[in-house]
Amino acid sequence: MTYQAPIKDMLLALNHGAGLKAAVEAGHYGDFDADLTAAVLEEAGKFASDVLAPLNRVGDQNGIKLQDGKVTTAPGWPDAYKRWTEGGWNAVSGPESFGGQGLPLAINAACTEIWSASNVAFGLCPLLTLSAIEALDAHGSDELKKIYLGKLVSGEWTGTMQLTEPQAGSDVGALRTRAERAPDGTYRLKGAKIFITYGDHDMTDNIVHFVLARLPDAPAGTKGISLFLVPKFLVNADGSLGARNDIYPSGVEHKLGMHASPTCTMTMGDHGGAIGYLIGEENQGMRCMFTMMNQARLGVGLEGVGIADRAYQQALGYAQERRQGRAVGKSADSGSDPIIVHPDIKRTLMQMRSLTAAARTICYATAVALDVAARATDAKVRSEAAARGALLTPIAKAFSTDVGNEVAYLGVQVHGGMGFIEETGAAQHYRDARITPIYEGTNGIQAIDLVTRKLAANGGAAVWALLDELGETIKQVEGSNDPAFGGTGQKLHDALASLTRTSRWLLERVTSAPNDALAGATPYLRLFGATVGGCYLASEALAARSGSFGEPQRYVALARFFAENIAVQAPSLEKSVTDGAEMVNGADAVLLG
Ligand SMILES: Cc1cc2nc3c(=O)[nH]c(=O)nc-3n(C[C@H](O)[C@H](O)[C@H](O)COP(=O)(O)OP(=O)(O)OC[C@H]3O[C@@H](n4cnc5c(N)ncnc54)[C@H](O)[C@@H]3O)c2cc1C
Repeated sequence: MTYQAPIKDMLLALNHGAGLKAAVEAGHYGDFDADLTAAVLEEAGKFASDVLAPLNRVGDQNGIKLQDGKVTTAPGWPDAYKRWTEGGWNAVSGPESFGGQGLPLAINAACTEIWSASNVAFGLCPLLTLSAIEALDAHGSDELKKIYLGKLVSGEWTGTMQLTEPQAGSDVGALRTRAERAPDGTYRLKGAKIFITYGDHDMTDNIVHFVLARLPDAPAGTKGISLFLVPKFLVNADGSLGARNDIYPSGVEHKLGMHASPTCTMTMGDHGGAIGYLIGEENQGMRCMFTMMNQARLGVGLEGVGIADRAYQQALGYAQERRQGRAVGKSADSGSDPIIVHPDIKRTLMQMRSLTAAARTICYATAVALDVAARATDAKVRSEAAARGALLTPIAKAFSTDVGNEVAYLGVQVHGGMGFIEETGAAQHYRDARITPIYEGTNGIQAIDLVTRKLAANGGAAVWALLDELGETIKQVEGSNDPAFGGTGQKLHDALASLTRTSRWLLERVTSAPNDALAGATPYLRLFGATVGGCYLASEALAARSGSFGEPQRYVALARFFAENIAVQAPSLEKSVTDGAEMVNGADAVLLG
């Protein structure tokens, strides 16, 4: 079954739930023409359905090959990548001064969902290139930008992000790759990186690696890490490709999913050292890398949304075709009904759709906040938006990738035994989704970031500002007196109260009793996602009721389902955080006793 981008849902989420329309009307997007959004998404949807979706299974079945130091991608992939760059898709949000279209990150976020839904292993390559563009644009020298930025923006060359080493995963500060200063101002890198996505491939002539390494006299830990640009082929003064640089793929991983995305071990220094160019200042690499990682974290959250939507579409289609049993009350001789008549299947599909919609809006709202932080003219607006973007980023990453996994799991379930058989494709979504809560900082690390940095910043100012806004939405739902909302207002009200109390409880302990705060980080992030997501869906339902959007009752019903079935879990999640810490911290008696 092919993929159709759900343009109407995406526009409602982007403009109303995520607040793009209000931000445009407030002038934060300058002269951006909001009418462009629908046209861009329609075209992206066509490209995804026609070019990327048909290659999803081909990539899964063929995988990639490493031979003679070169990685070959699956049949049809280099051609699809060529069409991707020719269509300008790599350059959607790239800086205009380097050939990009300069469109908002929010529009690119919606496109990223589309690429991930149609072919997540393909979309991962430009996702990392986009992060590389951000880091180079923000921290690189003019000279490096002149040589590399335009080619990365157009997609003529791709980018990689190289942090991980065998002893340095979540603990990036433990990395050992060495960088030595050369007399000409460049550096020589020696060492090995593991798990490097698209570390080598045959889709472009050159690859620009962004590598974290340590200078000989660097301080220990993250304070002694520098970021280097290391091209696969060196670039001559006239822009043509020069000698092969000393960075090679020495192995590729055999994985549970994402078979078409090469995951490489990269070796530097077998021939004297890879030539690297410093980005930013020495020992300031983590700062630069965070620019890359924040972009990539939002991108990975959108992978979760994309996979979830694809799995949902496929399950919905199957549920309308597969006949088993009869609807309650029908006679035994009346023939079998499609499984969608059964309440349990209806509930499952509603759970899939509402979780996907909530995760979508959380990701889009993150992108809108990051856009406003970069584009607004008023400094206060910019700084509040930056705090909002920082707060939402770990939720966008972790909540949405958990949703991707849950929805893909349910998608297999709706297919029954056929879900376990590869030919339906449901199993591939389930396998592909599994990496998303792990890479770009595991979801456990995202939850810790949410509690210790994002909640704790300025006494929780960013959290209180967001919760105030959610409270306004709930008031509007209650004030609408629309019986179709059912218990939505009350359930969201309870969820918000739980989130407020839990945030206060954690804030009081984050410094004084850090183990108690850390013990509840993961249920807190889920509580946050369920409450914010529920309120965002409610605001979309309100907008659909009051505008000319059509089908308002459909969106009211979706928001109501989420509030009554998902947000309703908030009080239990609150208890997990506040009452569960003691037993988590006493776990050694059980685990190691
Ligand atoms: C397919 C794939 C592609 C990848 N692509 C890239 C890439 O392009 N570039 C790159 O640099 N890396 C890449 N990675 C690496 C990925 O980012 C790491 O696997 C990830 O950050 C986790 O590190 P780790 O595997 O060492 O797990 P570990 O750090 O060993 O973590 C193991 C478990 O312990 C938990 N944990 C660790 N530390 C803490 C702590 N302080 N507090 C609480 N819990 C903790 C983690 O949450 C996790 O559950 C990729 C990995 C894979 C599998």
